[in-house]
Amino acid sequence: MGHTLACYPALSLLARLVAYVSILTIILIIVLIIVRYLESGDCGGGGGGGGGGDKSSCSEELYDRTVCVICYDEERNCFYVPCGHCATCYVCAQRIFNSENKVCPVCRRFIGKIRKLFAP
Ligand SMILES: [Zn+2]
Ligand SMILES: [Zn+2]
Repeated sequence: MGHTLACYPALSLLARLVAYVSILTIILIIVLIIVRYLESGDCGGGGGGGGGGDKSSCSEELYDRTVCVICYDEERNCFYVPCGHCATCYVCAQRIFNSENKVCPVCRRFIGKIRKLFAP
């Protein structure tokens, strides 16, 4: 019965090695999953789709939500008609408006008009 196996100790060693390696691999995968889960859980606390606007201060702390997306220098002080997005300063909006394809940098819709926002 076990006679053949006993004759080849190298085979049982190999089997043991394979089992050992596979167990190690499983442990490694579990650890990786846990680490990834902790990393993603640390950021937003369960923001799946990416529509949340409240807690976006994890990786975007440097990014000010009110700054122009084109020059990152001026405040966003205008919005586009008809889509209504407010993403750039008035100077950059005019630059877009005077260029070939006047499209909103947020939704890529055609800009018919730029309206200036007035700071309170
Ligand atoms: Zn700008
Ligand atoms: Zn838009």
